Amino acid sequence: MKMKDKFLSELEQLKRISQKRDLTEVEQAEQPWLYKSGKRLLNLASNNYLGLAGHERLKKAACVATETYGCGSTASRLIVGNHPAYRLAEEALVKWKGSEAGLIFNSGYTANIGIISSLIGRDGIVFSDKLNHASIVDGIVISRAEHQRYRHNDLDHLEALLQKAPLEKNKLIVTDAVFSMDGDLADLKGLVEVKERYNAILMVDEAHSSGIFGPQGQGYVHLLGLEDQVEVQMGTFSKALGCFGAYVVGKRWLIDYLINKARSFIYTTALPSGILASITEAITLVQEGSSRRETLREHSRFFRQELARLGFHLCGSETQIVPILVGSNEQTVLFSEKLQEMGIAAIPVRPPTVPENQARIRFTIMATHQRQDLADAVARIAQVGRELGVIQ
Ligand code: PMP
Repeated sequence: MKMKDKFLSELEQLKRISQKRDLTEVEQAEQPWLYKSGKRLLNLASNNYLGLAGHERLKKAACVATETYGCGSTASRLIVGNHPAYRLAEEALVKWKGSEAGLIFNSGYTANIGIISSLIGRDGIVFSDKLNHASIVDGIVISRAEHQRYRHNDLDHLEALLQKAPLEKNKLIVTDAVFSMDGDLADLKGLVEVKERYNAILMVDEAHSSGIFGPQGQGYVHLLGLEDQVEVQMGTFSKALGCFGAYVVGKRWLIDYLINKARSFIYTTALPSGILASITEAITLVQEGSSRRETLREHSRFFRQELARLGFHLCGSETQIVPILVGSNEQTVLFSEKLQEMGIAAIPVRPPTVPENQARIRFTIMATHQRQDLADAVARIAQVGRELGVIQ
């Protein structure tokens, strides 16, 4: 069979099992209501948790910087791409996080693959929660380290794996703070205790917790007061902060090491100044007050409680990410289509993003939603859930 025919038959197979993805254009996805094929839908699908992506101050900051410095950064940071907007953003980042040093990466994906593959190599072992994000998994694959997956949030299992590991090997434990497809939280206190007993380094991915937890939105690590114990704190600017890009904060040695070793940092063109200026503004904004965070927390609690009361299985969600388990791919796609007909945008999440037979609808809440819109959505979700036999 020709290569092209193999690809085509794979696509056919994905279609048969309701796993083929297609791109559809979406307008105003930064708003609580978006437009898809001209239809207005309640946006329960974006990671713009605090509603900052459309914020006037972020847009203004990006425009001013673009006018001043232009669109492209012209080279990687180690060549001539390290323009002043980086210094301002990294200074704001370090101050916000109260850390010794910090570094901005082009995205969460490139941060994870770069950090993991530079901190650990062929002779090391990475212990990774089974539900960690794909970018963490890819970082481990690139690192060529031994990959030990522990059962989700199961520290006894992690410890059993650590006990078997040779003493002299470098060990990295890595976890999401908020798990992106289940919306539950990692046991960070427990992980710190375990990593200290086994002389391992701990890396936490705060993609879905930065901006959301902690007194000034610094993240879940800060909420628990663990900032001095977690060696590698990574997070993104692309979700609650409403911008683009990612960061890592930690000790000076860590940042110097990454500047010298992280290939996804070294061999890529620097971010444009407009993005960096919006990051600086977003960091300022999340520190200014906690009302958006509180509204998000209250909205999320309401939405979770209502769906749980109706009998949906919420996959352990404790946050603004609220999945409902459906099961088969076909039912999940149908569920999402019916919601769309009823004016709700919510994505079906299927394997390989989640385990087989655990396809689900993933709802995400925004601080800028109206409570009544969420209540109306719950009623429509219940109707579809009953129609499809997901709930009684
Ligand atoms: N880590 C986690 C836990 C994520 O959910 C994501 C994005 N979905 C990433 C990393 C990647 O971040 P980015 O989208 O900025 O590349």
